[in-house]
Amino acid sequence: MRYLLSLLLALGGGSPSWAQQSDNGVPLWADRPDAAALTRSTERRIANARRLIDGLLADPGPRTVENTLARYEQALRAVELGYSRAHLAAGLLPDSATRAAGEKGEQAVKRFWAELDLSRPLYDAIGAVDLTKADGETRYWVAKRLRRFRLNGVDKPAAARAAIVALRDSIAALEQTFSRNILEDVDTVDAAAADLDGLPADYVARHPARADGRVALTTAYPDVFPVLSFARSDDLRRRMLFAFNNRAYPANAGVLDSLLAARYRLAQLLGYSTWADVATADKMIETPHNASVFIDRTVAASATAAAHDHAELLARKRRDQPGATAVHPWERTYWAQVVRKEAYAFDAQAVRAYFPYDSVQRGILDLTARIFGVSFRRAPEIPVWHPSVEAWEMVENGQLAGRFYLDMHPRAGKYSHAAVFPGRFGTRDGRMPEGILVANLPGGEAGDPGLMEYGDVRTFLHEFGHLIHALSANRTRWTELSMLQLEWDFIEAPSQMLEEWLWDPATLARFARHYETGRPIPAELVVRMKRATDFGKGLDVRRQMTFARISLALHDRSPEGLAQDSVVHAVEAAYLPFPPMGDTHFQAGFDHLTGYSAYYYTYMWSSVIAKDLFSGFDPARLLAPGAARAYREKVLAPGSSAPAAQLIQNFLGRPFSFDAWERWMREEPTRAEAEVPVRSPG
Ligand SMILES: [Zn+2]
Repeated sequence: MRYLLSLLLALGGGSPSWAQQSDNGVPLWADRPDAAALTRSTERRIANARRLIDGLLADPGPRTVENTLARYEQALRAVELGYSRAHLAAGLLPDSATRAAGEKGEQAVKRFWAELDLSRPLYDAIGAVDLTKADGETRYWVAKRLRRFRLNGVDKPAAARAAIVALRDSIAALEQTFSRNILEDVDTVDAAAADLDGLPADYVARHPARADGRVALTTAYPDVFPVLSFARSDDLRRRMLFAFNNRAYPANAGVLDSLLAARYRLAQLLGYSTWADVATADKMIETPHNASVFIDRTVAASATAAAHDHAELLARKRRDQPGATAVHPWERTYWAQVVRKEAYAFDAQAVRAYFPYDSVQRGILDLTARIFGVSFRRAPEIPVWHPSVEAWEMVENGQLAGRFYLDMHPRAGKYSHAAVFPGRFGTRDGRMPEGILVANLPGGEAGDPGLMEYGDVRTFLHEFGHLIHALSANRTRWTELSMLQLEWDFIEAPSQMLEEWLWDPATLARFARHYETGRPIPAELVVRMKRATDFGKGLDVRRQMTFARISLALHDRSPEGLAQDSVVHAVEAAYLPFPPMGDTHFQAGFDHLTGYSAYYYTYMWSSVIAKDLFSGFDPARLLAPGAARAYREKVLAPGSSAPAAQLIQNFLGRPFSFDAWERWMREEPTRAEAEVPVRSPG
């Protein structure tokens, strides 16, 4: 889901792009390299980039945009495809030798970028460039580039820099240990076969009983979530959640203490007071104080909705258990699922018939082409890395404007989530943007209609939002400003906003057709789908903000005397209406503390912005191109060449606000018996 995550994790530190103009326009996988050829081409790209940087640094003249920034740009361009192709190979290639070569290549390019990010001579050279005649975009880029150097401590004296590098290494090692402990500490929950009552048949079939009639379940995700949603046994759900919330405990409690201490020391060496200051410095939110205010504000805004959700869960529980006074943490998902089914009359399985993969793909491409004013065409002659991958071209004003690949179905050895993989970023001198949409959706096999759940359709649309963003961001001179300097807390907003089209009956009527009868999805089913999805939004926000507050609170202070458990339990008690479970240590298994550290708030921040951006559209005319084209022009096309807040303002004509999100949060959920207002699909 979270786009660019892989890309930004890789590039966030030292960013890329590539140079040989001869590479430009050449499809990503044109030479169909084997492992050896891939390694050679990666090494050649790194060597070229290094030569360009050496030439830049050796230039004796006064620093200018042309002799310094333009050559730095060339170096980034030279190596960009080295990373993209290696990343592609590591995640998507069917044979393990090429995957391994890809992994090595990724590491080599990342090492090169890290070298640039820590280079004092490069920092001094870029800092010395005379910008008096430079345009605003260039000045903005240099300011951001220099800040990134400083966030890496490049401006510090040599001794401090050595300590910073050592701390970064130990932080990386601690993060790996933390994640590995979570992966490896898989606990077993013993159940009677009868405890599986309520679970889907395929789940039960995957967990046959032993000779003694018992079943062993694990705390791995695919075992846990169906139990929490569907198991009728309260005791099984309780034991499962208890085991799940104690993953990697106690091992990770110590690791987390060390990690928090190391991050704090690093922050101090960089001249900040806490790690939360460092982590928010390059975000839209700017400071931990603003992040804290944001969390408070969303918590307050969700009070009524969360109370309403909780009351519904409790009321439904009381019908089965008269006199019940509380909903326990292990009951939340279960009763929510029951209420969704009964009160909102929505059966997630039934809508699948309207979402066969091929129609959904056609529908999403048609929709985005129509609203954004581009067209897409298959390009079967473009080389791909697997027969199931489709190459496509984006055409704008009659010109080829970008290229993308759809790698949409699971296969052995393939990256198992959904993401947009990097290809090439577009610039205004005509570099051809390319991107790869990777997913693991149903379909792709002869005879299988590939019926998708609506969550799958949402994922497809979400990721396509990232893809169209990356392909559209081609107006800047500097590749780093195409997408790579985009604030992390903005990056999800355009994709989250595009998800809104999934709730539009007129949009769905164009492609969501029953795979057997060809009938379009009934509008009232779309409305019920939306209502059922909205149910629980108050408690969902509280849960997300619980994570966000824990992530911030652990980092927004000195680790001296920190008691993890009291921080976590205090936040849970303040934000959630469920009685505490006792003796659980959720934070030990909270892997986002590695990637996000202090800024887990970002996903909610993006969704507040997404609601605001969507307020620039007329919900009755979502298929009309006007607003969408203006949005593409003002928000997507500039990429990261201006602060996100500025782009939003350019589109909406005012600074961004919470109003739309708060309005949505205040909307009372409408239950199944309520009348469905239906427009005729058009
Ligand atoms: Zn995303």
